Amino acid sequence: MSAIEYRLPQERRIVTEFPGPRSAALAERRKKVVGAGVASTLPVYVADADGGVIVDVDGNSLIDLGAGIAVTSVGASNPAVVSAVQDQVAHFTHTCFMVAPYEGYVEVAERLAELTPGDHEKRSVLFNSGAEAVENAVKIARHATGRDAVVVFDHAYHGRTNLTMALTSKSMPYKSGFGPFAPEVYRVPMSYPYREGLNVDGSKITGEQAAQRAITMIEKQVGAANTAAILIEPIQGEGGFIVPAEGFLPTLVAWAKENGVVFIADEVQAGFARTGAWFASDHEGIVPDLVTLAKGIAGGMPLAAVTGRAELIDAVHPGGLGGTYGGNPVACAAALASIDQMRELDLCGRARTIETTVVGRMNALAKELDVIGDVRGRGAMLAIELVKPGGQEPDADITKKIAAECLAAGVVILTCGTYGNVIRLLPPLVISEELLDDALTVLETAIRTAAQGN
Ligand SMILES: *Cc1c(COP(=O)(O)O)cnc(C)c1O
Repeated sequence: MSAIEYRLPQERRIVTEFPGPRSAALAERRKKVVGAGVASTLPVYVADADGGVIVDVDGNSLIDLGAGIAVTSVGASNPAVVSAVQDQVAHFTHTCFMVAPYEGYVEVAERLAELTPGDHEKRSVLFNSGAEAVENAVKIARHATGRDAVVVFDHAYHGRTNLTMALTSKSMPYKSGFGPFAPEVYRVPMSYPYREGLNVDGSKITGEQAAQRAITMIEKQVGAANTAAILIEPIQGEGGFIVPAEGFLPTLVAWAKENGVVFIADEVQAGFARTGAWFASDHEGIVPDLVTLAKGIAGGMPLAAVTGRAELIDAVHPGGLGGTYGGNPVACAAALASIDQMRELDLCGRARTIETTVVGRMNALAKELDVIGDVRGRGAMLAIELVKPGGQEPDADITKKIAAECLAAGVVILTCGTYGNVIRLLPPLVISEELLDDALTVLETAIRTAAQGN
């Protein structure tokens, strides 16, 4: 890996209580003008961010283990991205690709064709957000198959627009009070190894068996002939960083192929080097028909994409897909620079090193503390599932306590999971080993302290 140059000191530094006076003043202003429905994890306001740190308006320097929800994998002010963006902005900020096209959009599509799984002929269409990419993947699948039904999974998260709320599993906070939801969405069981039941002979349900359970449900309750698409996160994000059992995804892909069903991998959170491979699908060697991409794609600039089989995407009539800002030239420039940085800095390799460090330390702690039910994930998409001692009952309270304790010590930690009992670690892939070690020490102390208070 070539050396990463940091602009800000890579250190944890606390100079005020949280929130400091400037952040507190901003919180007061915010209350009067910003909608209460938008919540923030941190009580502090950001002044600067670089590498593995976020510096707040009072001068506190926090270690970032969230990367803005798996977005700033190359850092929040990566010099190559900053320079590409500045250069593009100085020339043109927008023309609308549907009005006056430009090279950046085409070049991003070329990179996506090259990087995404499979060596078949591919096409891409660019959008602004993950939810928009998912909506458009469903539009494409329905158009190409002439079928209506979309199959999704327990614990799934696909976004906050009307269709993607329907596709998402969890009611609070994503769906509650926002219905009615889009029709023709069917939910089937996921493979969740930690919470999976047993066969009658006491053996663990395998990935193939879990897939067969879902397939039977689709065949009986929806009908293969009515199914346009199976939509799945190859590693679930908001639902709890659930890695399905080996064999689950390939079995679903094979069934989809046999039945003319479009297999859509939602790689919005897991994609772009995050899991130690370019895409989470790569770990099981599956080749999705369509992939949806966003978050880590463009170093923090809003960009999203649907990439997939040429014959599916080209089935849509000209003018049927698009949007005013989709594939904005500044966001495309940022994506090209980010992808170059991922290659030059070998961020896939870096994600695998992060996995070794974090999983090693957390597994050691799990041997000591029975509040840690499961340590899982791939690359730098890692999770700790917290339970009541002696069983598997989810413990959301201890999870909140640990996250709060970390924050008080200057480490930004996100939580997730259907039961709110999962700590998820999504550091920027450019975080230094020293900073990561310091953050993990804080996390270990927080887990120990919370476990003693139980
Ligand atoms: C975040 C996320 C989305 C939605 O992306 P937005 O950019 O917030 O619309 C969709 N799918 C997955 C798997 C996600 O993690």
